[in-house]
Amino acid sequence: MRTRFVVGNWKMNLLRGEALELIEALKSVDAVSHEHVSVVVCPPFTALSTLTEHGLQGIELGAQNCHVSQKGAFTGEVSAEMLRDVGCSYVIVGHSERRRDQHETDAEIGRKALHALQFGLRPIICVGEQLEERQSGMTHEVLHRQISEIIEAAGADVVSKSVIAYEPVWAIGTGLAATTEQAQDAHAAIRAHLDQHAVTHRVPLLYGGSVTAANAAGLFSCPDVDGALVGGASLKAMEFAQIVHAARDSTR
Ligand code: PEP
Repeated sequence: MRTRFVVGNWKMNLLRGEALELIEALKSVDAVSHEHVSVVVCPPFTALSTLTEHGLQGIELGAQNCHVSQKGAFTGEVSAEMLRDVGCSYVIVGHSERRRDQHETDAEIGRKALHALQFGLRPIICVGEQLEERQSGMTHEVLHRQISEIIEAAGADVVSKSVIAYEPVWAIGTGLAATTEQAQDAHAAIRAHLDQHAVTHRVPLLYGGSVTAANAAGLFSCPDVDGALVGGASLKAMEFAQIVHAARDSTR
């Protein structure tokens, strides 16, 4: 039985007290890991150690970014080792908001994944096309290019130990999720491309982009969708719980 992942990306939201309240709410509605379903939340850096000290019981912790170096003169940056030290097991790398705002390249994202894994964090590597790229029929080409460059920088072994999130940029925060057909098609293309690069291990492929309680079950029914990276809906305990429960149902 393959493991499903439901990962919440809290982005730049919630003060520590609010983060604690959300974790308690998630536990109270059973939005926690079960056999075959891993639940991960990725709060802002400032809430990480508070949540670890409080105790997460069945919810794993991830960060939203890391630097490529272990330490040094990199003002404002946080290393994978530091994230491990505050209790993280995962780190998102290459989110489209960072590609857009910090001009992160696929090569840099690959180096971050490599660095994260060296310090014991499992990378969640984000890829996905822009609206114009989809409209001009370039989705597969863009995904192939992004994955090739990430593999070139990180190596096939690192990618085979990572999680990949397919996040079409036009679907993030827009309320316009990919259809199940679009998600399955992109995931199958990613899987075929990973095979070509000798990534033989079955890498978990998550879909991200306006996932809600209403569309989660359909997405989880796709053969190549292994879970979801959830932004907005991960801040609402009941809605996130319904997504987690849909993941659980899809394993039965
Ligand atoms: C995200 O930011 O990774 C994301 C998928 O956001 P949303 O679910 O809000 O579209």
